[in-house]
Amino acid sequence: MRDIYLFNTMGRSIQTFKPLREGEVGFYGCGPTVYTFAHIGNLRTYIFEDILTRMFERFGYKVTHVMNITDVGHLSGDDDTGEDKMVKSARERGKSVLEIAQFYTDAFFVDTARLNIRRPTVVCRATEHIADMIELIKKIEAKGYTYSSGGNLYFDVSKFEHYGQLAGLQLDQLKAGARIEVDSNKRNPFDFVLWFTKSKFENQALLWDSPWGRGYPGWHIECSAMSMKYLGEQFDLHAGGVDHIAVHHTNEIAQSEAATGHRWVNYWMHAEFLILDKSKMSKSSGSFLTLQSLIDKGYDALDYRYFCLGGHYRSQLSFSWEGLDQARAARLALVERILALKESAGVPIEISRLGERAAQYRAAFDEALADDLAMPRALAQLWLMLKDNEVPPADALALALDMDGVLGLNLAEAKKRETLVDAETVRWIEERIAARAAAKKARDFARADAIRNELKAKGIQLEDRPEGTLWKVLG
Ligand code: AMP
Ligand code: ZN
Repeated sequence: MRDIYLFNTMGRSIQTFKPLREGEVGFYGCGPTVYTFAHIGNLRTYIFEDILTRMFERFGYKVTHVMNITDVGHLSGDDDTGEDKMVKSARERGKSVLEIAQFYTDAFFVDTARLNIRRPTVVCRATEHIADMIELIKKIEAKGYTYSSGGNLYFDVSKFEHYGQLAGLQLDQLKAGARIEVDSNKRNPFDFVLWFTKSKFENQALLWDSPWGRGYPGWHIECSAMSMKYLGEQFDLHAGGVDHIAVHHTNEIAQSEAATGHRWVNYWMHAEFLILDKSKMSKSSGSFLTLQSLIDKGYDALDYRYFCLGGHYRSQLSFSWEGLDQARAARLALVERILALKESAGVPIEISRLGERAAQYRAAFDEALADDLAMPRALAQLWLMLKDNEVPPADALALALDMDGVLGLNLAEAKKRETLVDAETVRWIEERIAARAAAKKARDFARADAIRNELKAKGIQLEDRPEGTLWKVLG
């Protein structure tokens, strides 16, 4: 198997990937907290994880990818401060926590499917694994790493020798920072809750019996419990966004290794943020864009995937509409090129029979992938190859589709119709939709229907949703 180089946050260096079991990768990625829609920043991280698994599979590995769904215990501050995000969202929307969780879990998988993100091998919900969490906490307690205070069970970070290694934290030099609202029950501000019984939040909707009383788990324990359940006490790779390094993953490591007494994860990979107007896009600040909001403006979800491929996962990526327009134009140009190749080449040749010229591009593409997922470089190889007149069309088509196995741009299904809607048409459609809404408001339904039919005649179908009217081009 070829060498794969990855940047390991643990140690902050590029390392050659060595799996625990030959030809296999056990991979855990922290999933969404399902109290609202995922924003396109979150989705950037999941696109990265999707490309990571596709890369391993391309190089012959069998990947077991586990993702959790956080539907309990994630407070608005990652450090146990604030209110449970799920409870707050349910109250604001007048629904039960489980209804909210189901709705946003479904919405998450609709978004990821539209982005061509493949479903992980195992998707597991926190609320369905409470017994596993309790068992794990019991082990941690038996090893002497816990204390009870104010009705909650805490992890005592001072007992764990390597606490903070992932983030490069030095406990003795740290004081409770301004960000940390110190919980007076904690002995050390970095201690964290394993199990809440008396919480300061009334109306906690979901409660379970446990040896420490009726209550609910802290946020971090779910990832330790579920990853070990599905991947074993030690596994290869753990990923998430960079915001998880200092608290969430640091605490996951402490409690997992305290429980087992040995190393838990070998490689840690963290995706940098998508930023908007110079600040991190975040759900809690409320200033975020959903995938649907891009689609409502006439973009295809894959325009956003292409946009993400243009940045290295370890660099911040700044979102702008101009950037998205460029990605869209480039993706449509790619689709055009594939369609032209399909016409001229007919059937692509077998990938094993590529000519020498094309094979060189393939090698360079693979080298970029194996070099800590250098996707901008990999994408550049695709374009260089497509522009090289010395690559025969049947080779070019075969290789583009082969590369798309990792890029995930659906090139095999490339269709002409997407190229029909230019920016001017989008503006016109939106103007007609606004006119229709105004007609409806004035109860002029005949006019509203006439506008709908006018659009239909041009191949545009409307769909009225509670959040507004969506449109799509009929195939
Ligand atoms: P959450 O649903 O808040 O638990 O976050 C889901 C994933 O998205 C986590 O891996 C986060 O680290 C990641 N994430 C959060 N904000 C951003 C952002 N602005 N850009 C990229 N990834 C993010
Ligand atoms: Zn996690």
